[in-house]
Formats: sequence, C-alpha cells, structure tokens
Amino acid sequence: MLRIPCPICGLRDETEFSYGGDASVKRPAMAETDPKAWMDYVFYRGNPRGRHLEYWHHVQGCRQWLVVERDTVSHVISGCRLAREVSP
Ligand SMILES: [Zn+2]
Repeated sequence: MLRIPCPICGLRDETEFSYGGDASVKRPAMAETDPKAWMDYVFYRGNPRGRHLEYWHHVQGCRQWLVVERDTVSHVISGCRLAREVSP
C-alpha cells in the first residue's frame, strides 16, 4: 500500500485517494486539427519505468487534486504538490 504525503492532511493511506492518471500528458492547443494529436492525448499513455508524475484526488480528505512523483518500480514517492500550484 502506498502512503501519500498530502500537503494539507499529511501522510495518508492510498485508500483515501483516487488515481487520476498521468500528470505529464500535455493537452493539444484548442486550435489543433490533427486527429492523431487528439487521439494520442485521449487514448495513448506511456508505461514508464522509474520516476513518473501522477494525479491523485484526496477523496476522503481535503478533496484536493495532487501531483505525486512516484517511482513505478520501487513505489517510492519523492514529491507531492497541490495540482493547482503546478503549472501545466
Ligand atoms: Zn489531503
């Protein structure tokens, strides 16, 4: 089980959170007309080995969206910030 260090609530069990997906995906510009760019944005994700940025929602706590930096191999969390304070 993961223990996620919420910046507001402190260290909490993973069961209080809901996974929100890859936080490193960049949305195409609204003027983008290439369907492949939108298909990549909506459907395709990498499966990185190592450090990875993820969205987590603290559903049973402060209800804030977080950006968590986690190693996908060791599950060590090396950073956690409020998503609203992270520039896209
Ligand atoms: Zn929290």
